[in-house]
Amino acid sequence: MDRLLSAGHNVDVLDSFQTGNRKNLPNGPGGIRRLIEQDVAEPFSGKYRGIFHLACPASPAHYQASPIKTFQTAVWGTHQVLENARMSGARVVIASTSEIYGNPHEHPQTEAYFGNVNPIGLRSCYDEGKRGGETLAMDYARVHGVDARIVRIFNTYGPRMLFNDGRVVSNFCHQGLIGKPLTVYGKGEQTRSFCFVSDMVEGLIRAMEVPVFESPVNLGNPDEYTVLELAKMVLEVLDANLEIRFLPLPSDDPVRRKPDISKARRLLSWEPLIPVQEGILKTIQEFRTRLANHGA
Ligand code: UDP
Repeated sequence: MDRLLSAGHNVDVLDSFQTGNRKNLPNGPGGIRRLIEQDVAEPFSGKYRGIFHLACPASPAHYQASPIKTFQTAVWGTHQVLENARMSGARVVIASTSEIYGNPHEHPQTEAYFGNVNPIGLRSCYDEGKRGGETLAMDYARVHGVDARIVRIFNTYGPRMLFNDGRVVSNFCHQGLIGKPLTVYGKGEQTRSFCFVSDMVEGLIRAMEVPVFESPVNLGNPDEYTVLELAKMVLEVLDANLEIRFLPLPSDDPVRRKPDISKARRLLSWEPLIPVQEGILKTIQEFRTRLANHGA
């Protein structure tokens, strides 16, 4: 949003604030044009040149708290966005996810891999919902000619995340700053690849702007770390000596995750620039300021 506003675009925001924070909206002069406060799964009007469809809880803790709603948001919400695009002629960038790949048998994951997803597990509301959203997007492109551009976002983090978001980077940074043990699920041997938010925003904007796009495209940072390595890195950045507490591994927790980003490099001339140590430092600095101001 900040990037679009600083480039001089008129920006409308549609948000139900199920997991969003109003404080992240710029207000006053130079702010957004209109706030449409509603559920994305309900029809919305307005004629747009471009729509970034990012609406859906993405943290396992949040999306599993209301699983039926998550599935509806991912499928019906995407349907409403595509309907608007069909009628208004908007180009749409649709935020899909690395969860499409489930617990992958191919490593790293290319867009050609169809994935290994449990259709009836605790993560399915999100995984299968997002897969359904991709199906709708491709069919709207084929049937109605909608310029729908699917990006598969791998773990992304950074300033302004909710302290109670529940994902690993925000958990570790928040726990470290308030002097609590860092909660590692399982043995912490599972891997993830962490992309800093400014890199992701750049990828999303390029996905909207390039003249030619071939859905889907992976967006993420290909540097792979175990969760235990990440915990140690956060402690190092904080210069803290806190306990690492091992807790049970959630069901269907993917063992490995690392994007192959050759397609993004080729189509978008994009790759992440912020190393994870630097991104964690920036996140911790913003969390620290927010904590000092008693923010949430
Ligand atoms: N995780 C962890 N401690 C936490 C939160 C998450 O060890 O406090 C683990 C989680 O089990 C997973 C990885 O970190 O293996 C990434 O979890 P996250 O919820 O950030 O995203 P996911 O990729 O699982 O959707």
